[in-house]
Amino acid sequence: MNSNPQTHWTDEALLGLLYGLTRGPDQDQHPVESCPDCLARLETLRTSRQAIVAGGDVSEDFLRAQRRAIYQRIENRKRAYSWSWRVPLGATAMVVALAVFLYRPAPPPPAEPAVLSDAQFFSELAAEASGREPRAAEPIHGLFAETE
Ligand SMILES: [Zn+2]
Repeated sequence: MNSNPQTHWTDEALLGLLYGLTRGPDQDQHPVESCPDCLARLETLRTSRQAIVAGGDVSEDFLRAQRRAIYQRIENRKRAYSWSWRVPLGATAMVVALAVFLYRPAPPPPAEPAVLSDAQFFSELAAEASGREPRAAEPIHGLFAETE
């Protein structure tokens, strides 16, 4: 009996042996049947697999209900997708309607000032200058108004 722990079968190699994928690279050096550790692990894997396979007997009604649920989920997704483009479209339409409603045309540009001749300009300037006192004189006038 060869029970060298370094040459024990890996779980992956045991699974390959269980599913008939490989004979295992260690089969010649370390036969599974001759090692109680490897044989116990193989039996554990075999019983797990049999338990899973035995539970695979599914009734036709269960499969039909499962198919119906899948179709229903696909339909719901389609319905949700059809709504997904309507919401942004509606929002865009609202923004466009609001923009049209609130649009005010730009005011016309102000009329250009009338061109004055030099003589008009200087006469206006002289009228402005002669008709006004400097602002600094206003408090002095106020003093005289109080004393009267
Ligand atoms: Zn072993």
